[in-house]
Amino acid sequence: MAHVVFAGLGFGGLYTLRNLLSDLPPGTRVTAVDHRDHFVFTPLLYEYLTGELAGDVVAPRFDTLLPADQVERVEAEVRVVDLPGRELWLGDGGRISFDALVLAPGSVPAFHGVPGAEAHGIPFYSFEDADRLKTTLRVREWAGGERPVCVVGGGVVGIELAFALAEFLARAGHAPGSTPVIVLEAMGEILREMSAGLRKLARRKLEEAGIEVRTSIRVLEVDEGSVVYSDGGITRLEAAAVAWAAGIQPSPLLEGLPAERHGRHGVGVERTLQLPGYPSVFVLGDAISYPGRVEGDPLPDTAQAAFQQAEVASKNLRSWLEEGLPRGEYRYGHLGDFLRVSRREAIADIRGVVMDGAAASLARRAAYLFRMPDWTIRTSAIRQWLG
Ligand SMILES: Cc1cc2nc3c(=O)[nH]c(=O)nc-3n(C[C@H](O)[C@H](O)[C@H](O)COP(=O)(O)OP(=O)(O)OC[C@H]3O[C@@H](n4cnc5c(N)ncnc54)[C@H](O)[C@@H]3O)c2cc1C
Repeated sequence: MAHVVFAGLGFGGLYTLRNLLSDLPPGTRVTAVDHRDHFVFTPLLYEYLTGELAGDVVAPRFDTLLPADQVERVEAEVRVVDLPGRELWLGDGGRISFDALVLAPGSVPAFHGVPGAEAHGIPFYSFEDADRLKTTLRVREWAGGERPVCVVGGGVVGIELAFALAEFLARAGHAPGSTPVIVLEAMGEILREMSAGLRKLARRKLEEAGIEVRTSIRVLEVDEGSVVYSDGGITRLEAAAVAWAAGIQPSPLLEGLPAERHGRHGVGVERTLQLPGYPSVFVLGDAISYPGRVEGDPLPDTAQAAFQQAEVASKNLRSWLEEGLPRGEYRYGHLGDFLRVSRREAIADIRGVVMDGAAASLARRAAYLFRMPDWTIRTSAIRQWLG
């Protein structure tokens, strides 16, 4: 009986697994390992922060998503992927051997060696991070004072987070402008990965929301309640909270792999998503960089890319199990970008067509509804969005 093991159940791993289960080759044993007990639909973490969507939609538990009679679930941290020995070494000392492996451990926040950033900055990558940010803001509010909330990083996550924080503060009863949200960006421009049209609209919306953006800033240090930065001179900015959205790096799990790495990106894989030299190992999501070993623009680290790869990975895994020959090739297709502004507003760039307002918000919700793992979650999301 072939034993297929999944390491990491995010957009890459979970969607590959669920696709595979829809037509599982007979005689296949499946084990799924993740150190969490829930999936995180990261594009909707902002809605969780603002209270628009609840945890059952944004972070559904794996036991509601994976049938226990088909999948053996292991809640543990994978510490080592031993490819020659075909084993995963777990943090609790356990080992799991595999015939085929789907490896999709995603990314971790990058702190770039900035002193105090890891200890005092609050990343925004997990459900727990969103809770920590909410709690910090509530505690600081209770302790009094109207210091600004600072977001380090003016990429998509930083800017969407700034909008969500402004909304969170308004809902908590802060008068407009009384507790400003300030974005600190290292480069001369925010949202560099987005189109010029989307960027221009975002700039306008940020201004309307009273969010201040400071560019060409080098953050030097973060400590309890302040951030020190250089913009020519040195400034210490007192802050109610410092949210850290200054980039990500691939999971440390990739470090020990006998695989080609590309700088700060993931590993190189074949277009079939197989790891070169290890045909029974499929790698996807943020953990990969250039499928087909074509260097140039690395794949974007997005759920959109991972979701597309999951289609190919599940088909190839099935045909590998049945015939020993994966056939599908992965090629990235960019469908569009969304940026959430508020409960009712978003900005969208769909194949070059830029729009904003309620129409963009609806398009964004429709796109994410389509990608949600099942109808129970979709129905809850619709109810909560309408409520
Ligand atoms: C706030 C936020 C908003 C985003 N918004 C968008 C968006 O709007 N659109 C978009 O396309 N992309 C978005 N992204 C990016 C998107 O979340 C990632 O690109 C995507 O999740 C990558 O999928 P993945 O499967 O590689 O990793 P993940 O989805 O991160 O899944 C990795 C899984 O592996 C598990 N894991 C990791 N290490 C281990 C280990 N050692 N042992 C056991 N388990 C482990 C984790 O618990 C997790 O479940 C956003 C990201 C963030 C943080």
